[in-house]
Amino acid sequence: PKLNKTDVNEIIEKVIALIRVAAKKKRVIINTKLEKIPQVMLDEEQIKQVFLNILLNAIEAIPNEGTIWVGSRSMQKNGLEYVQVEIEDTGKGIPKRILDHIFDPFFTTKEKGSGLGLSISHQIVQEHNGFIEVKSILGKGTTFFVNLPCRK
Ligand code: ADP
Ligand code: MG
Repeated sequence: PKLNKTDVNEIIEKVIALIRVAAKKKRVIINTKLEKIPQVMLDEEQIKQVFLNILLNAIEAIPNEGTIWVGSRSMQKNGLEYVQVEIEDTGKGIPKRILDHIFDPFFTTKEKGSGLGLSISHQIVQEHNGFIEVKSILGKGTTFFVNLPCRK
């Protein structure tokens, strides 16, 4: 990756601007709660792609109308500092047996899905020494946590 000191909140705002029309068409409201966070060394184009993939999946997971919550915060794990971006949707949720496979290349449950968005996102975040976590409740929604280390 081509690393530059970057404001993750700015990336989030840019990506939300890109999907605003798609969200509106589907009556999906996007709410943000962006905290003050340190700048992170990252490849802006690649991390944009990660948030875009997760947000488009979130819109697709909402059958009728719904809400997507996007939050950012600082977080510590194992003595390391991370910027954590949380993307939560009120979509259909992911069944347990499927949850283990969503990051597999070409895994899709969609008629015309490529199954590549999350596998590429996973790879990008790993290349940044970060990690992604997912929580999902069937029929309620799904939350992705993208964790990016503040220092390499
Ligand atoms: P695609 O979107 O082309 O299917 P992805 O890699 O982006 O491929 O996602 C893989 C699969 O993970 C999806 O087909 C879907 O089953 C599941 N998935 C991803 N995000 C969500 C979400 N927010 N809600 C429900 N299911 C999801
Ligand atoms: Mg996708």
